[in-house]
Amino acid sequence: MIRPAHPYRLKLGAPLVILVIFILASVPSVQAVSLEDVQIEIEAPPTVDGTSAQPVEFGYKGFAVGSRIEPPPANSDEAPPALEFPSAEPPPLPKWRPPLYEVPWALGPHDHFFFLRPIAINEAAWLVDYYRYGDFYPDTEIIHTGMDITADLGTPILAAAAGKVVWAGEGLAITSTGEDPYGIAVVVLHDFGINQRRIETVYAHMARTDVKVGQRVNAGDQLGIVGMTGFTTGPHLHFEVRVEDGDYFTTRNPELWLVPAQGWGVLAARLMKKDGTPFHKLEVIVRSLEDGRMTKVRTYAPSSVNSDDYYNENLVLSDLPAGTYRVSFRYLWISESIDVTILPGAVTYFTFRNTVGFSFDPPDSETPNTLRPAEID
Ligand SMILES: [Zn+2]
Repeated sequence: MIRPAHPYRLKLGAPLVILVIFILASVPSVQAVSLEDVQIEIEAPPTVDGTSAQPVEFGYKGFAVGSRIEPPPANSDEAPPALEFPSAEPPPLPKWRPPLYEVPWALGPHDHFFFLRPIAINEAAWLVDYYRYGDFYPDTEIIHTGMDITADLGTPILAAAAGKVVWAGEGLAITSTGEDPYGIAVVVLHDFGINQRRIETVYAHMARTDVKVGQRVNAGDQLGIVGMTGFTTGPHLHFEVRVEDGDYFTTRNPELWLVPAQGWGVLAARLMKKDGTPFHKLEVIVRSLEDGRMTKVRTYAPSSVNSDDYYNENLVLSDLPAGTYRVSFRYLWISESIDVTILPGAVTYFTFRNTVGFSFDPPDSETPNTLRPAEID
């Protein structure tokens, strides 16, 4: 039975309707926002000599810029003071990071940011910043020939660039005790090289591979998933860049090869003794003069790792938002420091030589990095 409306309610009804309409009119319309909509418009940064800042043309297709986001590297303040392999502890919450530049990216003839991240940047995965390329594993002779990216078991591992799979499975390197430190691994020989030599990338500690030897892959194709095979104390990807179809001793620092996030850059340096030989395992502090964020990084160990053909560096630190940083270190009870400006999308390079001091001059190198595209049969 429907009761007739009470006259009192009718009186209240009209203002209520008006009020509701007013509130609805005040609420901004809500639209779906995709990642493409939140791309950052970034002006192409200037090169060192002020000329065009376009990435080099090159023959393979990468992901659209802005299709992925990536958490920042682990905060060094929270990192344990001693070197150790990543543990199985839960990772900190990922934070937003700008999308990557398009690959291949190089603002100058000496840079070679040809690789996408081997783990999608929207995964809770980041570089282990206390066990970088050239670091020692504590109390051992093991020197780190790659970079580690922690990620959950099962996280997809992606080809960093196009190429051909030349290894898939166990046995990439066998120790005297018959063990393989790499565990289940994939090696991709890429369609390009540098200084007449091809480049390959290694993906280790997988739970399984999803590719076969001889298979062609494109950038971003899934090669396998994160596991704990080989010598590891927790799930992570060990990623190497090698020259030619090389071995453990032909690696280069991946941080000079992975494309930066937009607006971010890379620091490279060569810190030398009086006679020009490099300082080994020297602890260097890099602190942002804008937000105080601090990272510790060590110069390369004396063996097993290699400097870039052009930079001849012994220290690299990537993932630095553009800005000014104070770089400081101590040797023989003397403290040294210099302020450096990190340029977006570029390598900022300096040298230090004992008794000579700091310099921002280009590397004293006979060998430029020249890109050589190559077709693979
Ligand atoms: Zn590693």
